[in-house]
Amino acid sequence: MSARILIVDDVPANTRLLEAKLSAEYYQVASCRDGFEALRAARHWQPDLILLDVMMPGMDGFECCRQLKQDPATLHIPVVMVTALGEAADRVAGLDAGADDFLSKPVEYGTLISRVRSLVRLKRLLDEWRARGETVRALGLASDRLPPPSVAGARALVIDDWDAEADTIRAALGQDGIVALRARHQAEAMALSGATAFDLIVLSLGITEEDPLALASSLRAADATHSVPMLLVGDLGERERLKRGFELGANDWLLLPLDPQELRARARNQIRRKLYQDRLRADLGEAIELAVIDPLTGLYNRRYLMRHLRSLMDQNPPPHLSLMLIDIDFFKSVNDAYGHATGDRALRGVAETLRGNVRAFDTLARYGGEEFVLIMPGAGRDQAALAAERLRYAAAEMPTPFFDPVSGGPTRLTLSIGVAVSGLDADSADGLLAAADSALYSAKRSGRNRVELSKEAWPADPAA
Ligand code: GH3
Ligand code: MG
Ligand code: MG
Repeated sequence: MSARILIVDDVPANTRLLEAKLSAEYYQVASCRDGFEALRAARHWQPDLILLDVMMPGMDGFECCRQLKQDPATLHIPVVMVTALGEAADRVAGLDAGADDFLSKPVEYGTLISRVRSLVRLKRLLDEWRARGETVRALGLASDRLPPPSVAGARALVIDDWDAEADTIRAALGQDGIVALRARHQAEAMALSGATAFDLIVLSLGITEEDPLALASSLRAADATHSVPMLLVGDLGERERLKRGFELGANDWLLLPLDPQELRARARNQIRRKLYQDRLRADLGEAIELAVIDPLTGLYNRRYLMRHLRSLMDQNPPPHLSLMLIDIDFFKSVNDAYGHATGDRALRGVAETLRGNVRAFDTLARYGGEEFVLIMPGAGRDQAALAAERLRYAAAEMPTPFFDPVSGGPTRLTLSIGVAVSGLDADSADGLLAAADSALYSAKRSGRNRVELSKEAWPADPAA
């Protein structure tokens, strides 16, 4: 689907020209005559980019931009303000209002198309994150939308070998509470970024000892800095190099002489976008964790276990893999005697004890209620039987201070364990679980607090 671009300008001749140029690039284009109409269109049509004229009657471009950036339904849409040429004050006001970029009138079409392309690409990426974040929130798995993050306390890396310029940049960023560290060359930049997580990199193209574009490209390649927004600083004579830096992955640039207000505004925009992206990523991480971890015990849940077991068994079939189904004996009587909350504590205690007695590469999961599953890759029958005995013993020895001796309930917990072995008992995940389940059933029937191997796990009877 081609990207949608909304053009906002009160002069019809201006919109018609832009519309023609952008349509020729296969964008879907719509236009509005004033800020009010633009707010409505942005909300309902959800464009991928808005080209916003500054001078409009009624509501000017700054106010319109401010409102777009305050509305959760539109704040993610990049806004490019179209200003009269050379109006530095306009640019600062626009950046303050949250604009993402600028174009000067008369619009230079080469620049227009390259900026539009890069902003649309970035927006698509953010949209994908946003959509996943929405799903996560809709499922109630993450916090609700928070207000836009603040830049105070953010960390910036300033790479510049000219002292006076570096000081100006750091002082300007400091006014917004951004903590800026300085590097003079690549080695220093890499060392600092290894030790500190930065939210912004400001790179001067005036660096003389090294090729600043090579440095930009190394920063884009390094793990610690590949997704940190990068602002380039250069002068008009370096336009080609600025463009090249942009292609290498820089996010924005600033022309010398440095205007501290413009630097601050551009830095704030880049940092806010990064923090917003970080937040979405954190929500997703939390959601993924919630999707596979049992909240009561912190062990993997059944969903994860089944996926994992199937993928292991798909490696047709692993030479040795043992599976235990572990069930707490008479657990219902714990709840009956002490209540559900104490029952929960006991479950956590058992989970902890099990976790402390398995190998790092075994997978332990809560299978349901008071049942656990342990997968032991590489373990044959004898090894698994031994491990099961060890777990049974550890549980029986487990202190249970939450049981109150006067209530007449149990004071110890014991486990019954069924063991099945791949190859011997079954070749599929479900088959292995069924074999372990029937072994568990025999353990229960034979009096509990014991380990039983699945029948097929026993060597064939030589007398038979
Ligand atoms: P058996 O020795 O035959 O396994 O007896 P049992 O009482 O352990 O088995 P049963 O399946 O009859 O009961 C399991 C009990 O586990 C019933 C349920 O109240 C309790 N249970 C399951 N999940 C939880 C939980 O999350 N918290 C608490 N507190 N209890 C749970
Ligand atoms: Mg039980
Ligand atoms: Mg049970």
